[in-house]
Amino acid sequence: MMQEYLTHPIFHVLAEIAEENNIETYVIGGYVRDLLLHRPSQDIDIVVQGNGIALAEATAQKLGHLKVSVFKNFGTAMFRYKGTEIEFVGARKESYRSDSRKPLVEAGTIDDDQKRRDFTINALAISLNKKDYGRLVDPFKGLQHLQERLIKTPLEPGITFSDDPLRMMRAIRFATQLNFKIEENTFKAIRANKDRLTIISTERIMDEFNKIMLSPEPSRGIFLLEETGLLEMFFPELTALKGVEIIDGIGHKDNFYHTMAVLDTVALYSNDLWLRWAALLHDIAKPVTKKFIKGQGWTFYGHNHIGERMVAKIFNRLKLPQNEKMKYVQKLVNLHMRPIVLSEEIVTDSAVRRLLFDTGNDIDDLMTLAEADITSKNEEKVKRFLKNFKIVRRKLKEVEEKDSIRNFQPPISGEEIMETFHLSPCRLIGDIKNAIKEAILDGLGMKDAGYMPMRPLEDVVSLSVYWESVVGGNEFAITSKCKYPEKAIQFLDWCMS
Ligand code: ATP
Repeated sequence: MMQEYLTHPIFHVLAEIAEENNIETYVIGGYVRDLLLHRPSQDIDIVVQGNGIALAEATAQKLGHLKVSVFKNFGTAMFRYKGTEIEFVGARKESYRSDSRKPLVEAGTIDDDQKRRDFTINALAISLNKKDYGRLVDPFKGLQHLQERLIKTPLEPGITFSDDPLRMMRAIRFATQLNFKIEENTFKAIRANKDRLTIISTERIMDEFNKIMLSPEPSRGIFLLEETGLLEMFFPELTALKGVEIIDGIGHKDNFYHTMAVLDTVALYSNDLWLRWAALLHDIAKPVTKKFIKGQGWTFYGHNHIGERMVAKIFNRLKLPQNEKMKYVQKLVNLHMRPIVLSEEIVTDSAVRRLLFDTGNDIDDLMTLAEADITSKNEEKVKRFLKNFKIVRRKLKEVEEKDSIRNFQPPISGEEIMETFHLSPCRLIGDIKNAIKEAILDGLGMKDAGYMPMRPLEDVVSLSVYWESVVGGNEFAITSKCKYPEKAIQFLDWCMS
């Protein structure tokens, strides 16, 4: 008996009303599963042998005239009580057609209702009826499967998945979230029915996929999606990462396994869905940029830039947000190698300043991703990288404290430049602004830039133009454009001294 589990105050009220009206009532599905797993409980689903809407209205009335939302077409009703959503539905029997996951529905018994559930662990119900209040109704061994940590369909799995192919995604999602195994026949049936996924909308597929991404060890789900053939159906760019090619005895790493390792490591440190997406896609362009160069081995030139572009295409196709979340993922994919390249060299202030400038507030996430990206089996190499990463992190802190580059604002606006030089809008203004930024990032630092001789404004502009001339190798030509070239040179001497 499960009475002690039914602690929510709604259950006793429901039991009374059900008794008064002589209708059978059960709490069912995910709520019961989570109660038994001691997981935080979700919303409560109540199934009624009879009219669910009427029971919802009577209960809401008794609890103090709560507002009930009624969905007549679905025969369901719902209200909120003490922070929990309580949904009522009449017990139903379902039959399916092959071209849709929307079943034909007719009224049924609790038994019929349990048969239409996707997995045995989701078909568990607890009676709210006086005669057997608290009895677990478990026709498909759901309790046993909870103990065995098993995902299994109540009926023949081939029919269950063919009827509603979304259940294939749900099976893998639950297996990943709960760290359960998928029972063998259930697993085989997913593989056999994978093509049915085409009748499911992308949004629904991605809802499940994102729940997998947010699980403690997302790779478990993605491996299952790959093994069943589902991944190929909606995410071919990921399966293209699979495999190792060998030329002249030189192989490259399997980028699918590598990506999974990076994703799981990032998941250890962050619950942020989009940082996890950046990990998933950081090497997505490796297959299309792969080249074997004699004497050099395997190269993936530009995979970060091409990857950035692929993110936009993938997000668009998978109906993921086309907003700042996507831009964030694009940015991390583009920059993911920067900290590691940096850590391979002598870590100069100026390189760190540039990295901070390009990443802004996403620097910590980029460092998490870059550190997770070190999956080499060569212990010496890993040790060296991690040591250098420590230096990069320390320098980042120092430079940030000194210069606050994260929130870099150009010290001078385009309007000010136009005024100073009596210029109308043209490319030179952008060039000057850029030169100022470069000068600051290269060596002057924000604090220096704000100090005395940088004022007045003309000096700043002169300096930037002078700087550009040094970089461009045409000192005279460019300083001659300045209003006060001597000042610029003077100032630069001061800076260099
Ligand atoms: P979560 O809240 O984590 O998504 P849940 O099991 O509560 O888990 P819901 O989608 O809210 O998931 O579904 C509630 C219940 O409805 C499930 O436990 C299951 O019994 C049933 N169910 C949901 N979707 C399906 C489906 N596609 N096929 C069969 N039964 C389903």
